[in-house]
Amino acid sequence: MKYLDEFRDPELARRMFDQIRRITTRPWAIMEVCGGQTHSIIRNGIDQLLPPEIELIHGPGCPVCVTPLEIIDKALAIAARPEVIFCSFGDMLRVPGSRKDLFRVKSEGGDVRVVYSPLDAVKLAQQHPDREVVFFAIGFETTAPANAMAVYQAARLGLKNFSMLVSHVLVPPAISAIMESPSNRVQGFLAAGHVCSVMGTDEYQPLVEKYRVPIVVTGFEPLDVLEGIRRVILQLEQGRAELENAYERAVRPEGNVAAKQMLADVFTVTDRAWRGIGVIPRSGWRLSDRYAAFDAERRFDVSNIQTTESMLCRSGEVLQGRLKPNQCPAFGKECTPRTPLGATMVSSEGACAAYYQYGRFIPTANVGVNG
Ligand code: SF4
Repeated sequence: MKYLDEFRDPELARRMFDQIRRITTRPWAIMEVCGGQTHSIIRNGIDQLLPPEIELIHGPGCPVCVTPLEIIDKALAIAARPEVIFCSFGDMLRVPGSRKDLFRVKSEGGDVRVVYSPLDAVKLAQQHPDREVVFFAIGFETTAPANAMAVYQAARLGLKNFSMLVSHVLVPPAISAIMESPSNRVQGFLAAGHVCSVMGTDEYQPLVEKYRVPIVVTGFEPLDVLEGIRRVILQLEQGRAELENAYERAVRPEGNVAAKQMLADVFTVTDRAWRGIGVIPRSGWRLSDRYAAFDAERRFDVSNIQTTESMLCRSGEVLQGRLKPNQCPAFGKECTPRTPLGATMVSSEGACAAYYQYGRFIPTANVGVNG
């Protein structure tokens, strides 16, 4: 298949559902790690059309959702400073911090700007040498190369007024944390294709071997997701645990070598807190010592942040697959996209946003959890 439409072909999808039905003999729980895949699943009703034995557990792969509250509060404090132009992608603006969000900071006079690329922020720093330009660099391995490039470019240009608030997170340590959790029910993973297009698949082999868990690298269109599910189920039914690449049109085992070299230069692996989940060892990137001058946390004193999470929001459980969004008592009531209590209702990749957007207000038999 060459064109996008072919990956949405209803007839092919029907055949794929039939195949999955034929090979499924007992209950299996599969986690789609990435929020983009969650949206594809909910938008296309895949979870409702699968055999009832298959439960899809939504994973923590939404970059906005897992950005720790402390970093959000640091962003709010930095963005409120008069000398700062604070740059971010749009979906971070409505993420609730302890007391407000970036929109509120903007309405109170903060110079908060939405950019479409971190290089736009570098350009702003060139255009405003009298201001401090800060870029909010969050996300998984997917967005990191562009952020690394921006730091590299700022260094090359000798910019002294550019910095980044970095909160990058990494997928493989999150898979380890899920598998080592005493309450884990995940038996197979759909790994995020775009992450693997950067990092390759090599990091996943040790996870497959250590936890004896099938991992299938999967894309985002309906047929991509169905093929990923089909391959995981086939492995589980046959008692196999292997790493498979079902997204060969974008993913090579070695990944993007040039991007990985830049990432290794600009970033260093660090322990990272995930919002609603807690600290996962060696699960993030911070700026390497070589580029420490571009670290906004060092440039601005934001060390004494006191965080307060919403008492009502249960997004930590949603992110760990322990609760479906529509099982949260606040879903669609106190918490809506207009009045979000948690980042999972704000982000375009958030599970709560997906359930709200596609009208999943009532839990169905096929989406029950906590079994
Ligand atoms: S529905 Fe709202 S309150 Fe409930 S978990 Fe999702 S974001 Fe949090």
